[in-house]
Amino acid sequence: MKQITILSGKGGVGKSSIAASLGILLAKKHKIVLADCDVDAPNLALVFGIERKFFLEWENISTNEKAVFDLKKCVSCKKCFDICYFKAIDWVKNKPSLKEFGCEGCGACKIVCPEGAIILKKINNAKIGYVKTKYGFKLASSQLNIGESGSGKLVNKVKEKAKNISADADIMLVDSAAGIGCPVIASVSGSDYAVLVVEPTPASLSDMKRALAVVNHFNSDKGIIINKFDINKKYCQRIEEFAETRKIKIIGKLPFNKNFVKALVEMKPVIEIDEDIRELFDEVVGAIMNAKIFRNF
Ligand code: SF4
Ligand code: SF4
Repeated sequence: MKQITILSGKGGVGKSSIAASLGILLAKKHKIVLADCDVDAPNLALVFGIERKFFLEWENISTNEKAVFDLKKCVSCKKCFDICYFKAIDWVKNKPSLKEFGCEGCGACKIVCPEGAIILKKINNAKIGYVKTKYGFKLASSQLNIGESGSGKLVNKVKEKAKNISADADIMLVDSAAGIGCPVIASVSGSDYAVLVVEPTPASLSDMKRALAVVNHFNSDKGIIINKFDINKKYCQRIEEFAETRKIKIIGKLPFNKNFVKALVEMKPVIEIDEDIRELFDEVVGAIMNAKIFRNF
């Protein structure tokens, strides 16, 4: 199964809208599965008009642990309080007390406790589920519980789920989170091809460069989509020059078009309501499938 990952660096540049439309067009020739790996803000299903209640299952899962204190054994040495880098421990009535949010399950407190008064306990920190779209392919998604950590591990679980629900798929299309943190690293890991989405603004280009460093680390082939390229043609040219110096192909230039917003409001992929945009996406799919990794595919 080949993996194509859509990422951006900066959020809000149209990544999920693009992922949904690419998914529909890729599915015309290939058996695909989608993995919504933006686990902090999963909304790829909504772009297809699918609400959480229509998912076929929601399974509680654990991708993290938390410290649990046995206060009978505790001698109030305060070593756990001092070592906790994440400031997840309060000191109450001369004893440690775990804050509701903040424990990363790193285990440092357990190591330094001289009395063996701390254990790490698995916690249910997320839900994972899947749904079948009307286009025939399935979509795996998840939801990290509010205030919980473990997002990188959760991304791995979503990708695992996507493989399990469509074991015979040729392509897994991964919609990554923005940024360059754990969930992005876990999303890009294993990618055969990365689609970097950028807008012609300084912030978007700057963040895309950081995302590109992640992609390069994993040695994925890649291409750039410039979204709303016509809102700032001068800066668009700068992105094209940057791409040229790095020998990265511009696989698509999408214009500013109110139908992107209309489609989000109507909970439909944009290619369903705009034939011109569909044609542009057809070209993007052609450019991706023309990449070396997909030749003879
Ligand atoms: S497991 Fe780590 S983050 Fe959690 S309380 Fe202990 S030291 Fe702090
Ligand atoms: S390190 Fe152990 S003994 Fe010391 S305060 Fe923490 S729980 Fe108590």
